[in-house]
Amino acid sequence: MKLYKTDAIVLSDSDLGDQDKIITLLSHRYGKIRAVAKGARRLKSRFAPAMQMLSYVTAVLYKSKRIEVDTFNECKINSSFLGIRNELLRLAYGYYSIELIMKCVHGAETPPFLFDLVLKILFLLEKIPKESLPVLMRSFELRMLTILGYRPYLAGCVECHQKVEKNRRVFFSGYEGGILCANCSKEKRGKLVSFETIQWMKFLRTVSLDKLANLKLSHRVSEELKIIPKSYIPHRVGEEVLSYTFIETVQALETEVETAKKTSSPSTETRVSWIDQE
Ligand SMILES: [Zn+2]
Repeated sequence: MKLYKTDAIVLSDSDLGDQDKIITLLSHRYGKIRAVAKGARRLKSRFAPAMQMLSYVTAVLYKSKRIEVDTFNECKINSSFLGIRNELLRLAYGYYSIELIMKCVHGAETPPFLFDLVLKILFLLEKIPKESLPVLMRSFELRMLTILGYRPYLAGCVECHQKVEKNRRVFFSGYEGGILCANCSKEKRGKLVSFETIQWMKFLRTVSLDKLANLKLSHRVSEELKIIPKSYIPHRVGEEVLSYTFIETVQALETEVETAKKTSSPSTETRVSWIDQE
């Protein structure tokens, strides 16, 4: 058996017998790896703290020649992303990112810059202002899809290849894999989107990730970009990414709580006049 070392992100864990766990990792150099962590289910296991989903670790593993599952020799945590775990909305986005990787990345054929991208996204998920979380995720989706060869066709209509011009009606189809012109979208194929949304899709693939927090998208563009997680990705991977619904549920709850706070707390003026009367 050969020993090797790699940086990795823990994607999932499952129990193996009474004592062990099987961990799925996205590694820097070897793509997706499955490995056994012996004794990881024991309370005092040296591996246990590092085996939580979303942890960024440096692992030393034995490569097995006979089976496709390697074995942990050592594992040290570099970050457990507490900033993500401590806030439900950020955690929902974290789960969604991990599910996307689980469903889109297959085997060892993954370029190291995909790992670098995921790691950068997780560090940003910890600290980016909450209102920028959707744009961060749309940029991550579009970049990851591009790296993996699934990027949407945005150069023109997917059917007739006609360029889409600013003043023409433009449609986007998750099923067809990109833009449809008004002519080709007959029979109600695709969803009508603004030209601006298509421009944002192109821009979000390449803009510096550090600048995302400064971007201001209109409500219409933000809503239309949801076609990527809701339709484009499910058609490319052949199934729903279930934790996207979790993000929407948490977001709706947070909005409800904020609205309730605003309507139930008296305004400053009311409080001042009430104190005056006393
Ligand atoms: Zn067309």
